[in-house]
Amino acid sequence: MRHTTYAIRNTQYDFAGKKVLIMGLGRFGGGVDAAKFAAKAGAKVIITDLTSRRQLSDSISQLEEFPDIEFHLGSHDPVDFEQADIIIANPAVPGDNEFLEIARSHKKFITSQINIFFQLCPAQIIGITGANGKSTTAALTAHLLKSAGEEKVWLSGNIGNEPLLTRLDKIAPDDLVVLELSSFQIEQLAQIQQAPTVALLTNLTPNHLDRYGTFEDYCAAKENIFKFQLRRVGFSPPNKTWWGKPHPTENRPAVSIFNAEDKIGAEWFDKYKKDAGRICIIFSAGDISERIRKSFGLPGRANLSNLAAAVAIARHFGIDDDQLRTSLPQFKALPHRLELAAQVNGVSWYNDSKATTPESAIAAIEAFEQPTIIIAGGYDKKVAFDELGQKIAESAKAAILFGQTAERIADAIRKTQDTSLKAQDTIRNTRIELVNSLAEAVQLANQLSESGDVVLLSPACASYDMFENFQQRGWQFVKLVQKIRD
Ligand code: ADP
Repeated sequence: MRHTTYAIRNTQYDFAGKKVLIMGLGRFGGGVDAAKFAAKAGAKVIITDLTSRRQLSDSISQLEEFPDIEFHLGSHDPVDFEQADIIIANPAVPGDNEFLEIARSHKKFITSQINIFFQLCPAQIIGITGANGKSTTAALTAHLLKSAGEEKVWLSGNIGNEPLLTRLDKIAPDDLVVLELSSFQIEQLAQIQQAPTVALLTNLTPNHLDRYGTFEDYCAAKENIFKFQLRRVGFSPPNKTWWGKPHPTENRPAVSIFNAEDKIGAEWFDKYKKDAGRICIIFSAGDISERIRKSFGLPGRANLSNLAAAVAIARHFGIDDDQLRTSLPQFKALPHRLELAAQVNGVSWYNDSKATTPESAIAAIEAFEQPTIIIAGGYDKKVAFDELGQKIAESAKAAILFGQTAERIADAIRKTQDTSLKAQDTIRNTRIELVNSLAEAVQLANQLSESGDVVLLSPACASYDMFENFQQRGWQFVKLVQKIRD
């Protein structure tokens, strides 16, 4: 097979003839992208993953064109880590993983998909991170930049598993790359002291505490995206002269964008605004003018915050209000994010399967004025449900709960009901029902709903206890709703 050359001057990434170990193939496309990239560049690729061939079948089938790739699945073998030249670790693997320690003790080069991308990408990168609203903000930003015109705009994130590395050879220095970045990816980037030139934080609330332990540690992981931006000033990228032009990020000021309505965002804006070499921008949902808001079709105040975030970036790139008003109406909700699944007998069924945190489910409930039946629950990330319980008790007609966290959410609702009933009567008599499956939840919601109601799947939790991912949960919901309709 002919090898693709990615104009790789950075000798660390001269993969031809090297043994490359992909640690964690995963099901989100990152491992597949890294494996294809290494194989195309002429590496001998070995993929190791703790899960089974059956669970990884989707990802494995995408690699059929590379019959030389070896798979070591079900467990990790220390020998692989001793013998590889390069290890590409999945973002889900913590930096202190014991097998990575083995590789380190053998002086192996450890990297990641995102690190390779940052080191080899010729174009300016706009990084979007936060607890909630990343995908929507990233997609909206790319939409606004694209509609305005000149540069080619690339988008990658959690939206449709868009690859990064296998697109590198098509990205030109004058293009713009909009990237949704998770805290795990930011941690990996921090190891090489890299960050995007333009970085935006949508908001920051406790999440992923199963991995980070404390909110402070989670914040520290996210903050690296801003900390390492300043390294770029005067920074000489290894690939500086690939295309005979200076690297587009060279000597550009860092741009850091924060949400005024978010506690951490406001704090960090104050902290960073004094830095020389950094432009700090602050946005707020409240700043969006009525005329711009009217051109925007997504429901709820949280989406207004995402709009304000994307508009802040668009304005930085010189896009004016007229251009915004022309392009905004074409932007549609992303699948599984407050997406209208169907209307049946006057009841509107919304698929918000991507709401994997309590804050996002709260934001979803706030988006509707109609009587709402919420379907929630899922994998237990050990976050608190007190505020969600309160919001449900104040606003929802019924809560149908399933999955690992069903009992915890029910307790949180009851807690508000118990304390508040004594104190005041702003609390609705929210009906609480525990069920065993999404199918039962949909059936029950159908029985409980009346014309004019909203039924909202907004689980507030990840899906891994019962589904492969949030997409599968959302598709199943849509299918079940369609069955009711037909
Ligand atoms: P992320 O990529 O951070 O998970 P998404 O844009 O995919 O965010 O949205 C996920 C869910 O979070 C949506 O379904 C919606 O319910 C909720 N949401 C979207 N934007 C926000 C926001 N700014 N604040 C709180 N919740 C939000």
